Amino acid sequence: MQPDTTAIALPPVVIEHAQHLFIDGQWVDPGGTTLLEVVNPATEDAVTSIGLGTAADVDAAVAAARRAFESFSQTSVGERIALLESIIARYEQRIEEIAAAVTLEMGAPISVARARQAPAGLGHFKATLAALKDFAFEETLDRTTLRYEPIGVAGLITPWNWPLNQTALKVAPALAVGCTVILKPSEVAPLSSVVFASVLEEAGVPAGVFNMVQGEGPVVGAALAEHPDIDIISFTGSNRAGADIARRAADTFKRVAQEMGGKSANIVLDDADLETVLLRDVAKMYVNSGQSCNAGTRILVPRDRMEEAAAIAKRYVDDLVVGPPEDEATNLGPLVSQAQFDKVQSLIKSGIDEGATLVTGGLGRPEGLETGYYAKPTIFADATNKMQIAREEIFGPVLTIIGYEDEDEAVAIANDSDYGLAGMVSSADHERARKIARRMRTGMVHINGASASPAAPFGGYKKSGNGREAGAHGMREFLEVKSLFGDVS
Ligand code: NAD
Repeated sequence: MQPDTTAIALPPVVIEHAQHLFIDGQWVDPGGTTLLEVVNPATEDAVTSIGLGTAADVDAAVAAARRAFESFSQTSVGERIALLESIIARYEQRIEEIAAAVTLEMGAPISVARARQAPAGLGHFKATLAALKDFAFEETLDRTTLRYEPIGVAGLITPWNWPLNQTALKVAPALAVGCTVILKPSEVAPLSSVVFASVLEEAGVPAGVFNMVQGEGPVVGAALAEHPDIDIISFTGSNRAGADIARRAADTFKRVAQEMGGKSANIVLDDADLETVLLRDVAKMYVNSGQSCNAGTRILVPRDRMEEAAAIAKRYVDDLVVGPPEDEATNLGPLVSQAQFDKVQSLIKSGIDEGATLVTGGLGRPEGLETGYYAKPTIFADATNKMQIAREEIFGPVLTIIGYEDEDEAVAIANDSDYGLAGMVSSADHERARKIARRMRTGMVHINGASASPAAPFGGYKKSGNGREAGAHGMREFLEVKSLFGDVS
C-alpha cells in the first residue's frame, strides 16, 4: 500500500486563488469559465483546478503592463534594489508553501523541493540583486554615451520541471531593469506560481508591473507571442513550442529569447578516478528524476572501461529510493504526467530494441508503485551515439553510457548532438580537462564537477536556444541599448 500524500497540504493562498489570474494588482476571474485539473503525479488525483485564461485576459494584462511601464521604467536603480530586497524577504518567509506547491504539482520529493526547487528561485533573485547593484546602465565609448534602457513589456512563458527556478530566472531580471511583465506559468505545474504572485503582491510590486495569466500554451502562450504590444517573449520549454512561438512572434518583430532542451555529454577522461566521478555525476543526473534540461544524460567513458563504469553507476542507482514525494527518505518521485511517463517508456523500449545493454531498470513501474507516474531508474551501457536514447532528450531517470577510443572521438561524440546546453569533463589533469572544455560546443561546461555559478550566463548553443539567462547577462536580455552621439564632450 502506498502512503497517503495528503500529508502535504495545499497552501491556503492556492486554495483561495488557484482559479484566479493576477492582473493590474488584483486577483480576478478569467474571461472564460473553463477549468483545468492539476493532477498530483504521485496519486493521479486532481489536487485542485485552475481557471484557464483567454486571449482577452492577455489583452487586459498587456494593457495593465503597458500603463505601468511608463512609471516603472523611470524608477531609480535604488528603488528597484529596494523592491527586489522586499521580494526576497517575502519569498524567504514562504519557502515551505512554495516547496509544498511544487511537490503537489510536479512530484518532486519534498526533500528536493525544500532544498533545491524552492531555494533555486530565491537564489536567482539574490544573484540578480547583486548584479543590479553593480550594473552599468550607462557607459562611454568613443565620445558616445551608451544607455541601456528597459525594452518594454515582457511576456514570460515557463515550463513545469523547475517551476519557480525558471520563473525567477525571467521575472527577477525583467523587474531589475524596469520592464513590466506578464507571466504564463506551465499549465501542468501552475500552483507554485500562485504562491509566487502572492509573494510579489505582498512585497509591494506596483499594480500592473507583474501580471500572471494562467492557461494553455496554444491559447495564452500564443496570444502573448502574437501580441503587438509586447516587446519581448522569454520562453523556456520544448523545441516544438519554441519554434511555434518564434513563428507567431515574427510578424510583430519582437525579441524572442528561447531556453530549450539538452542532451548533455559528460566526458570522463582516461586519467580520471572513474568511481569518484561517476558516483558524483550519476547522482546529479538523477536529481528531479532526470527532468532537468542540463542533466548529463550521456556519459562518455573509455571503451575498455565500459563494464567497470556500468557497474559503478548500477551500484549507485540500485540504492536510490523511488517512492512517494512526501516521504523524507525518497530520492526519486514520479514523473510529472502520464504523457511524460509514456514518452520515457517508449524511449526505454527504443534503447532495448536498438541493442544497448540494459544494466538496470527498464520498462514498467517499480515494484509496489502501481499508482502514480513512477518510472524505474534505468541505465543503458554499450550505447552508440546514433541510438535514440543518445539523441533525444528523455527527461526521465535514464542514463546512457557510451564508449570512446581517444580524446578526439570523445569530443566528436559530445558535439554530435542537435543540442548544446551543458557539458561536463573530468580529468586528473586540470589543464587537459580545460582544453576539452574549450572544444565542447555548449553554453556551459562543468570542469571536474564544479557547480554552476548563479551569476554566470545560463543557456545553450544550437537547438538548446537563443540568449542567456541569470546575472548581468540575464538582465541584458531585457534591455535595449541607445547610442547618444555627441553626449560626451
Ligand atoms: P512545453 O514546451 O510543452 O511548455 C513550456 C511552456 O510553453 C508552457 O508554459 C506551455 O504552456 C507553453 N507552450 C506550449 N506550447 C505553446 C505554444 N504553441 N505557444 C506558446 N506557448 C506554448 O515544455 P515543458 O514540457 O513544459 O518543459 C519541458 C521542456 O523544457 C524540455 O524540453 C526541457 O528541456 C525544457 N527546459 C529547458 C530549460 C533551459 O533552460 N534550457 C530549462 C527547463 C526546461
